[in-house]
Amino acid sequence: MSQPNKWEQRWHPLRGEWIIVAAHRQDRPWLGETVSKQSPLPPPYDPNCFFCPGNVRISGARNPDYSGVFVFDNDHPCVGPNAPRELEHPAGVYRNRPADGMARVVCYTPKHNKSLGELDPSEIENLLIALRDQYAELGSRPEVTHVFIFENRGEVVGVSNPHPHCQIYATNFVFKFIETEARLSREHFENTGRILFQDILAAERQDGRRIIYENSSAIAFMPYFARYAYECFVAPKATHPGLAGMNSGELRDFAQALKVLLVRYDNLWRMPFPYVMTLHHAPMDGQDYHSFHFHIEFQPQLRKPNLLKYLAGPEIGGGNFLSDTLPEDKANELRNLPDIHFRQENA
Ligand SMILES: [Zn+2]
Ligand SMILES: [Zn+2]
Repeated sequence: MSQPNKWEQRWHPLRGEWIIVAAHRQDRPWLGETVSKQSPLPPPYDPNCFFCPGNVRISGARNPDYSGVFVFDNDHPCVGPNAPRELEHPAGVYRNRPADGMARVVCYTPKHNKSLGELDPSEIENLLIALRDQYAELGSRPEVTHVFIFENRGEVVGVSNPHPHCQIYATNFVFKFIETEARLSREHFENTGRILFQDILAAERQDGRRIIYENSSAIAFMPYFARYAYECFVAPKATHPGLAGMNSGELRDFAQALKVLLVRYDNLWRMPFPYVMTLHHAPMDGQDYHSFHFHIEFQPQLRKPNLLKYLAGPEIGGGNFLSDTLPEDKANELRNLPDIHFRQENA
């Protein structure tokens, strides 16, 4: 017999779409591919790593002997000032244009074998400040309308270099999910006079079961409408369109909330936890985004230590998610984990 709350549809207010929660069939036998556990911890410096201090990158440039955050232009840019200007004209209704923008890489630390969650809160705070500055600098370029910052972590998401880093795509368009969030937030404000994300936070607080961590100005939670088994959001409690509006106390609290969530992710299966992390910042195209509430989203690909969430017909072909797990159950797992990283237990 299936429990009613394990089989239902949930509305995603930031995407304007339904999620099918079908957790009642979670234990159906799995005969598909599995993902093996992580190899042993690499050394803190790798002479073959393109991102480690002092090493020569693929472009021939030598990294400085950096000690904190290190930012450089991506050697394999997908958008950039050198993208071809002379393009073939496509037929009929089709359109194209130069891939304008700027792509950068941000190394979190010189230590090859650290992860974001293993950094000290003050190091995470310094990273946030560096990202804020990148956002301001790249966002002021005339061709740039949005600065998209993301980290792919783990081999299951195809990471080519394990050195802890994220990427920046400063683009001449606004990424689709951000555009949708901005539109729905604006419509919600026009219809109700309220900030959509504040209503989400209020609903999360009212329920309480999916809040992973909170302090005086930041919160980490698994949203009611989570699409992935361990999907979580980290947000300031006050509405700011981006990192730029946050004061030093808010940045410190936010870094702490990120740290707690990331440590618990790794502690969940005592392995580096693969995820896609994206900063949801308001666009920089000159429009009014006061109803946009900055946050970071984590979409982890694993449902179990050796089981990937496969995107298939509904997700890839149709565009709506089918969730195999119940957010309340998965949030409960994360709520009950220790805050000391498993690698630092005996340190
Ligand atoms: Zn490295
Ligand atoms: Zn978002």
